[in-house]
Formats: sequence, C-alpha cells, structure tokens
Amino acid sequence: MARSESVRLLDVRRWPPPRAYPELLDLLQERDIRATFFVVGRQVERHPEIVRRIASAGHAVGNHTFSHSEPGTLSARELIREVRRTDDLLTPILGGAPRLFRPLTAS
Ligand SMILES: [Zn+2]
Repeated sequence: MARSESVRLLDVRRWPPPRAYPELLDLLQERDIRATFFVVGRQVERHPEIVRRIASAGHAVGNHTFSHSEPGTLSARELIREVRRTDDLLTPILGGAPRLFRPLTAS
C-alpha cells in the first residue's frame, strides 16, 4: 500500500521548543508522513536551523506572516510587507521562495 499521507502540521504561533524537533521529525519519518509547516517569520529569524532541518527532511514549509498579529489588525500593505519579509527569510534556507502561504484566520 502506498502511503502518501500529508498533514498540515503546526500553525506555529509559538513553536514547540527547539529540542522537541528531532523527536517530532523522527516520528514523522518513521510513519512516512510528509507535513507542511506554516512558519512565522519571527520564529524563522530566531531558529533558522529548525527550518533548515524541516526542509531537509522533505517537508514543505509555508509562509504564515512575520508576526502572526491578530487577524484584521494589519492593513493590506502591512500584511504584504510581512509576507515579503518572511519570504526573504525563507528563500535562502529553502533554496527558493516558499510556494505556500497561509493567511491568518480567527481561531
Ligand atoms: Zn495562524
């Protein structure tokens, strides 16, 4: 049976602590699960090594704004700026601009 499970993982307003990632990524690998991590630019800035590790494990990485402000509090212009800023952080890590963006939604 071919397994190509895909899960949308982690709307990462606050990341799990960096030390949790090796175990999490091992777990996904064991189960042959490809996940998409929507990451917030501010956290990418703090922990680029985590994004690098996620991407090199074959998972997709998407842009989820820079600051994860409350939905509706950013103007369109500010939102675009945030998305670009996060793209700029992700591009060198991913070796290309991220192709996925997840907008902020009221939870
Ligand atoms: Zn979110």
